Amino acid sequence: MSDTAGTVIFEGTQATSAQPDSVLLPGHDVPLGRYTVVRRLLPLRQRRMVGAWCFVDHFGPVDITGQPGMQVPPHPHTGLQTVTWLAEGEILHTDSLGNSQPIRPGQLNLMSSGAGISHSEQSPPERPPIMHGLQLWVALPEHARHGEPRFDHYADLPQLQIGDATVTVVVGEMGAAASPALVHTPLLGAEIRLDGGGQVSLSLRPEFEHAVLVMDGDTDVDGTQLGSGSLLYLGEGADEVTIEAADASRLFLIGGLPFDEPLVMWWNFVGRTHEEIAQARADWMSEARHSRFGTVHGCVDDPLPAPDLPNVRLKARDRFGQTVA
Ligand code: MN
Repeated sequence: MSDTAGTVIFEGTQATSAQPDSVLLPGHDVPLGRYTVVRRLLPLRQRRMVGAWCFVDHFGPVDITGQPGMQVPPHPHTGLQTVTWLAEGEILHTDSLGNSQPIRPGQLNLMSSGAGISHSEQSPPERPPIMHGLQLWVALPEHARHGEPRFDHYADLPQLQIGDATVTVVVGEMGAAASPALVHTPLLGAEIRLDGGGQVSLSLRPEFEHAVLVMDGDTDVDGTQLGSGSLLYLGEGADEVTIEAADASRLFLIGGLPFDEPLVMWWNFVGRTHEEIAQARADWMSEARHSRFGTVHGCVDDPLPAPDLPNVRLKARDRFGQTVA
């Protein structure tokens, strides 16, 4: 790690920036299901959250012709919302509430676990050749995390033309546009496309913290060179971000009020204590599975078994990664 001209740079990256307090965070590859590798951009050792956004995976673009593609069997969630966003391809979501919902580019699948839900995510047999997208998690605050599960598909989201960009407001508000997506903390998620390259300056809420990730293209974000598969944390207090690209580019902007509740994140669960996570795991691995997490009908694959808990107690961490007693 080094600190050069205001940007803290991790793991051999070479960007510099005049913008203080921005942090360039390269993701790392992790397997998802049996056939898919994703780039994990949150949580990272250096940063765990951006607002209530607590998990960001970027997958593809990858040609899955003749391949299984994404095949994630039924698995549970607690304490979070999943946000699925595609640039290309198609994925079928099937959940324990009885929803079977294909998602295509420009649409939002938003699943709220409440105290428990289960779902599968699969590339359907008939689908476009390229798979490219994001899956993000939003931590539910205390007042929303014990509630009923629900699933919402949003086929039409507001778009803005700003500068050279087409901005789709996926979650939250930007300018005069507000997403209908139901979230429980002040939050922003927006896709920014510069289809012919160019420049755009976007107004930001200074009470939020923000980060930008690049899905496609080589871009300049507030003076920092940012290529596909990296996340630039913009910090708190920024009131504007400027993005430039020579060629076609696609980025995703996330932001939100800093999330002050320490979390325990383990496997597919977000909780507050070791005991909560251990209970969720025990429920999933026993007959209690069906009453707590429901049953995913219409997916032929067996449910995913939970991994073993570590031998040490899971600790809650605040948004800076510090453990709390
Ligand atoms: Mn999932």
